[in-house]
Amino acid sequence: MIDGKRRKEEKRIKDEDLFKVVDSTIDSRTYLSLIQLARKLQIKEYYGAISSGKEAKIYPALTKDGTWYAVKIYYVTTAASKRALEKYTIGDPRFKDVKIKTTFQLIETWARKEYKNLVRLYEAGVSSPRPIFVYRNILVMDFIGQDGIRAPLLKELSEEEINEDLYRKVIGELEKMVNIAHLVHGDLSEYNIMVWDEKPYIIDVSQSVDLQHPNALELLKRDIENINRFFEDHNISVELVEDILSRLKISNVNSDDVHDSPR
Ligand code: ATP
Ligand code: MN
Repeated sequence: MIDGKRRKEEKRIKDEDLFKVVDSTIDSRTYLSLIQLARKLQIKEYYGAISSGKEAKIYPALTKDGTWYAVKIYYVTTAASKRALEKYTIGDPRFKDVKIKTTFQLIETWARKEYKNLVRLYEAGVSSPRPIFVYRNILVMDFIGQDGIRAPLLKELSEEEINEDLYRKVIGELEKMVNIAHLVHGDLSEYNIMVWDEKPYIIDVSQSVDLQHPNALELLKRDIENINRFFEDHNISVELVEDILSRLKISNVNSDDVHDSPR
């Protein structure tokens, strides 16, 4: 009895030791999931959040053998973000059979969607974090950076680092994303590209859609325009959007611009 109690107490302390920084915003359900994940993936420590966006927070995690992961925890706080989740999930053929009931299930769908998108990117050879695992509202992926210090975003680079070579690499990744993975990022910008060792990494693909999505072309054009605008602002001569589009295999992509199809 005493022994059992002590073991329980020891286990509790061990679980708490997992968290280097106490984060009061983690709800109890997520906290338990993180403990289960730690056992599964041999995670020794979770560190303090490196970012908190509108829909997720990212935490570095260190495994027993010294590998760093990025742990993305999804949460939904506002009706607006719930609507955003629905907007991108509905219309994607891969999720047409998903019956969404509660907000938590919606968040889980969202986490799984980003995981599946990362798998597609990884298999297509697109430079993006390798997906490791998804469990409930938590996605685990390779950490971009070193020793738990994240790589800079494209947005954060110094003027000398923003050059034509990097521009070409970014456009190259976008091409692979469309032509091989058949995905459109949907929120591509200097905020969703990390740069490590002069190599761009495409991140934040939870809202990315299949080429068959009704808004695919519109989103794709916006993505290209965002990238062009960023590099143009840094005095890099960029390709015309049409020239980039002409290399993309998007001939049978749905387009709201086309109204002359036979009915
Ligand atoms: P935001 O609303 O701020 O865009 P988000 O909820 O969309 O955040 P992400 O863009 O996926 O989440 O990630 C947020 C931040 O976490 C990124 O800007 C980047 O700094 C960091 N980050 C994301 N993925 C990784 C990773 N695999 N390795 C290291 N850092 C990462
Ligand atoms: Mn982001």
